[in-house]
Amino acid sequence: MKASPQSQLRLLELADLDAELTRLDHRKHGLPEIAELAGMEARAGELKDALVVTETELSDLAREQGRAERDVDQVRTRIDRDRARLDAGQVSAARELASLQSEIESLRRRQGDLEEVVLELMERRESLDTRLDELTAERERLSADMTAVAARRDAAISEIDEQAGKASSQREGVAAEVPADLLKLYEQIRDTRGVGAAMLRAGRCEGCHLTLNTVDLNQIRAAAPDEVVRCEECRRILVRTPESGL
Ligand SMILES: [Zn+2]
Repeated sequence: MKASPQSQLRLLELADLDAELTRLDHRKHGLPEIAELAGMEARAGELKDALVVTETELSDLAREQGRAERDVDQVRTRIDRDRARLDAGQVSAARELASLQSEIESLRRRQGDLEEVVLELMERRESLDTRLDELTAERERLSADMTAVAARRDAAISEIDEQAGKASSQREGVAAEVPADLLKLYEQIRDTRGVGAAMLRAGRCEGCHLTLNTVDLNQIRAAAPDEVVRCEECRRILVRTPESGL
């Protein structure tokens, strides 16, 4: 293939811009904020689950406490009724009296037990309330942090997009000055090798970083300036410049 030395030099500009675009793309996808947000989202999911569990436990406990308190009330009512009977002197037979007194005793014990249950339930609710507050506070902090990180990510992305936009339009301009057949070859090599053209600098291919052997160098020396030469190692287009060491 033939192309003017100026067109060949354009390929180096193109390769620089392509490298810049690749670098920007990597930076965009590898932004630390992306990984940070993923970690935060995972934590937010854990918090959401923990909140559901805690809220369910709390409503179960509230129901249980309500039941225990109603039991206490019932027992208390019965004690009051028994006591009223005693106080009114309605019971006179000794056996009946003893039985009523023993019932009151046993009801009091039962009341004591139930009140202990209520107390225990209240303590458990208190510690769950504390946990709920902690989880809620963490969720709020996390949500604010996530908003901040997402804003940083978006700012970084729009800065990268802006740079990529500039590089893309520059690239269009440079590509427009490269003959179609040479551009096609460059694109084909770029598709398979990532980089389509490299400078020959001091006898070394800047694409694969290998020093050319004497035979290849002599062939390139002998080639006309408008001959498009390729690296024998990596097959990239080798662009000659005054720094090529020829
Ligand atoms: Zn090479």
